[in-house]
Amino acid sequence: MIKAIVFDLDNTLLDFSGFKRESALAAAKAIREAGVKAGERELYGKIFAIYETRGIEYQRTFEELLSGYVLGPHLHEHAKQAAIIAYEKKKYALLRPRPKVVGTLKKLKQSYKLGIVSDAPREKAWQRLILSGLDHLFDVVVTYEDTKELKPSKQPFLRVVHLLGVSPREALFVGDNPERDIIGAKKAGLLTCLAKYGCQRYSEEENVADFTIERFEGIVKVVKELEE
Ligand SMILES: [Mg+2]
Repeated sequence: MIKAIVFDLDNTLLDFSGFKRESALAAAKAIREAGVKAGERELYGKIFAIYETRGIEYQRTFEELLSGYVLGPHLHEHAKQAAIIAYEKKKYALLRPRPKVVGTLKKLKQSYKLGIVSDAPREKAWQRLILSGLDHLFDVVVTYEDTKELKPSKQPFLRVVHLLGVSPREALFVGDNPERDIIGAKKAGLLTCLAKYGCQRYSEEENVADFTIERFEGIVKVVKELEE
């Protein structure tokens, strides 16, 4: 019998990858419009190359990108701030929950405690929750700052169940990343559910989750199964 359901945020509840692609395109366009002589595709590729090496949450992406071009201080700052504004505009426009997330969470909230474990910095995770209208739905939100450890460390998972007041076995974790979410939650002793729809690279053989859902609302059936 489970008492709590804990979710990963990015790509599980939100289409974060879609937002990152759109915001990178908008930033590339803004940089070119500011006067940097580079193609939008080239700039877009370089933004993702920086995410690849520095991590998707890296906070100095545009500074690092523009440092690779010979620009005077005037154009450098113009392009950087244009990129930041373009990125922020997309953040406000695009960060929305995936279909059926709000209704499903409201339903689950009637019977279970709900939590979040995110590797995002605390302020970014909360901004995403607020922008997507999910900020009132969770009893506990654990972010990177809470344990200073990233998934698949078991620490953030142990922290969230402790704060929710349940044992690991009384909690189900739902996440899109097989290596970080599923392995980490399993190590901490939680039941696991892979959000396949958010997976960037899915492999049937490597899927060790207890449950797998193709759409977010599939979680209702999983929970029913656990009740029986
Ligand atoms: Mg995720």
